[in-house]
Amino acid sequence: MPSFLGVRTALALVVAVIAAGVNLLLNGDVQASLVVLVCAVASVLIAASGGEAPSVPERATLEPGKEPAIADVIEAIAEPLLVIAGSRVEAANQGARELLGHHVLGEDVRVAIRHPAAAERLMHSDEDAQAAPIHLVGLGTRDQRWEMRVHALGDGRRVVHLMDRTGSYAAERMRVDFVANASHELRTPLASLLGYVETLREDAGDDPQTRGRFLKIVFGEAQRMQRLIEDLISLSRIEAEKYRAPDKAVDLADLTQQVIIELSGSPRAADLVTQIGDVAPVAGDPTQLSQLLHNVIGNAMKYGRDATPVTVTLQPEGEAMVRLTVADEGEGIPPQHLPRLTERFYRVDSGRSRSLGGTGLGLAIVKHIVERHRGRLDIASTVGKGTTVSILLPVLRVS
Ligand code: ADP
Repeated sequence: MPSFLGVRTALALVVAVIAAGVNLLLNGDVQASLVVLVCAVASVLIAASGGEAPSVPERATLEPGKEPAIADVIEAIAEPLLVIAGSRVEAANQGARELLGHHVLGEDVRVAIRHPAAAERLMHSDEDAQAAPIHLVGLGTRDQRWEMRVHALGDGRRVVHLMDRTGSYAAERMRVDFVANASHELRTPLASLLGYVETLREDAGDDPQTRGRFLKIVFGEAQRMQRLIEDLISLSRIEAEKYRAPDKAVDLADLTQQVIIELSGSPRAADLVTQIGDVAPVAGDPTQLSQLLHNVIGNAMKYGRDATPVTVTLQPEGEAMVRLTVADEGEGIPPQHLPRLTERFYRVDSGRSRSLGGTGLGLAIVKHIVERHRGRLDIASTVGKGTTVSILLPVLRVS
């Protein structure tokens, strides 16, 4: 019975029976007691049919063929959604409750969203409210960016949809910064190149000594532009292949020896020390891994102190990985710079990097190559002692 009529109804019926019993005991009048009993049972049943509270939550299940309530529908959507009637919040899904607070149900939507631009939009009539989306800064955390769209349902209610645009906003800002930085990096050598060529066309070109000196500078600046353009092309190629995992068997020991031979003409070649262990082939792209080795060993030679060793170590890391370590004994890098070293054009000392021929893209390229190879990159440094770059790469799996 309790499952059919509800617990409270059953209790009320028991009380009705007891009341009739008490009446019988006190008055000894069977007919009057029966009347009491019938009236009590009838009033209990009338009350129960009109409003017994359901013993299961409303949203637990839906009867077949019954339209789902709008609150159930919006609950199935992860992005914050509110349904408002006039300006009162009628329903808010979990995303909205988490963003705006669990108290928003029943509140005025302008209080619930608490953003001047949102409040202004929501004050307008339904037709206006369907206009272009608006952008909200400072809703949620300070750095978050939201896009708010309002859609009228036609029955006086409106749906307010909030979309988190923080990621795409950050990506767009990075793209804009990158274009600005790349243009600046190219414009500097170009301006110098044009200046010297212009001077050479005038009187300075007549003096062989001055001409020789100027042409050397022009050649250096042109080389700088070439390095930059090559690095930019590499970066975009690596990014374009980001989701295609490399699958060639690359013998890192052979590749490292080859890169060391290629670097033998550079001023600090004599400081290179290699400790190459017996390592399994990695799953890789030989051209990109050669570029990775050039960039990391090249940096250690550039930023390491003269006549101190640059040690290149290759060793297995368990069965599944190979570890490449390049350690120098240079000035080191202050800890606050470490997290930003792989950003494009980020340099600890711009003047030093440029005078050593750096483009500011070497470690960004290394990071992208490591990511494409599903590897790991770590840079550890102690100021005054030196820097160690450590790279883990997965061994090629033979299936
Ligand atoms: P760059 O072309 O300037 O060398 P990278 O992207 O290769 O650019 O490196 C970014 C910055 O990180 C460099 O400008 C330099 O300040 C710092 N850096 C990289 N490697 C080392 C190292 N081995 N020792 C000290 N600083 C380093």
